[in-house]
Amino acid sequence: MSTIDSAVADDSYKSIDAIDVKGQRVIVRADLNVPLASGQVSDATRIERLLPTLRDLTSRGAKVIVISHLGRPDGEKNPKYTLKPVADKLAAMLGNTPVHFVADCIGPVAEAGVAALKPGEVAVLENLRFHPGEESNAPDFVAALAKLGDIFVNDAFSVSHRAHASVHGIAHALPSFAGPQMLAELDAFKLVLGVPRRPVAAIVGGAKVSTKIQLLTSLAAQIDIIIIGGGMANTFLHAQGARTGKSLCEPDFADIVEQIMSRAAESGCRIVLPSDAVVAREFKPNAEHGVYAIDAIPQDGMILDVGPKSVAEFSDRIRSAKTLLWNGPVGAFETPPFGEATFALARLAAERTKSGDLVSVAGGGDTVAALNTAGVTESFTYVSTAGGAFLEWLEGRELPGVAALTQQRTA
Ligand code: AMP
Repeated sequence: MSTIDSAVADDSYKSIDAIDVKGQRVIVRADLNVPLASGQVSDATRIERLLPTLRDLTSRGAKVIVISHLGRPDGEKNPKYTLKPVADKLAAMLGNTPVHFVADCIGPVAEAGVAALKPGEVAVLENLRFHPGEESNAPDFVAALAKLGDIFVNDAFSVSHRAHASVHGIAHALPSFAGPQMLAELDAFKLVLGVPRRPVAAIVGGAKVSTKIQLLTSLAAQIDIIIIGGGMANTFLHAQGARTGKSLCEPDFADIVEQIMSRAAESGCRIVLPSDAVVAREFKPNAEHGVYAIDAIPQDGMILDVGPKSVAEFSDRIRSAKTLLWNGPVGAFETPPFGEATFALARLAAERTKSGDLVSVAGGGDTVAALNTAGVTESFTYVSTAGGAFLEWLEGRELPGVAALTQQRTA
């Protein structure tokens, strides 16, 4: 990924750079909620991103205690959701540093595991969500967790929209710091919505308007251009009187669309919708398809991607922008060939970023998957793997885990 040269550091978050961690028990909240297939880690991106934090702390003599959740075991111990295979993968990726898996995250087992830890070593504690107190932010669970460490580091932006014990409660119980990944993520977002290089454009795609009303409303008040694609464009087009056939569409959201449009008009934000579409009668790989103007969508057809004329129009907008924010694919990209528009726009944004003409920040699970398929993730300024937290941050909401870091006790 290219460097964020003009990163806006926020002094209100304390980084771990300036503190002496030697011999200290440092609890690191990580996001090790990685996909598993047949008991093995199938995508290690999140582990990969954590390694620099662990290398830094262990090389400075900290006793590092990694805590995370995995899946949704709903407060019960369930071997299906053990972090053991994730700890094994982390150990292999970290190389020579000893990594110990500890079979519980609180209580005697956790305390013994942590007591045995030597400076420069890592312990990965079992899934936090095996205890109901994690999600309910229960004071006794917070206390049991905090007891294990001297310092808390939150390096998991992606889970910081939840007021859970391991991101919220513990940050109030121990001297707390923002981890390097967390700081990089916050810096990247500030490039887009802090004091950005204008014009600022956003591509907002994905399936439904109903899941992104707040995002659209908030962006309409702050940025210059919103390019709308994906299933959500259908709802906008339908609200404006277009016939969208059998396409994914939420006709009940016409009023909301109207509100978003007028909010954008008031603040001088231009909303750009597709003018043509790739339409198929069946939603399956390589289904027979054709390109239609938006006012001529066949009644038995489904819009599955934006058309070439729209790609050209969207591309012009991206070329005139200096900052681009991207959430949501503009077509059903997982089903070929309905990812072509998303991939073309991704390649353009990547090229312009590489040539220094664009700051590009993308986020959300599907968006990351689309950029990976297009092979351009590394060329974006920043790509966030956070889904819900990314959206909530863009919507302007306060994230409990991030807020807790600025309201911390001092070390
Ligand atoms: P979201 O989680 O809201 O970002 O939605 C992402 C999903 O929207 C992806 O799985 C895409 O396949 C899907 N999607 C994008 N465009 C369309 C479309 N025109 N019709 C149906 N699904 C779409």
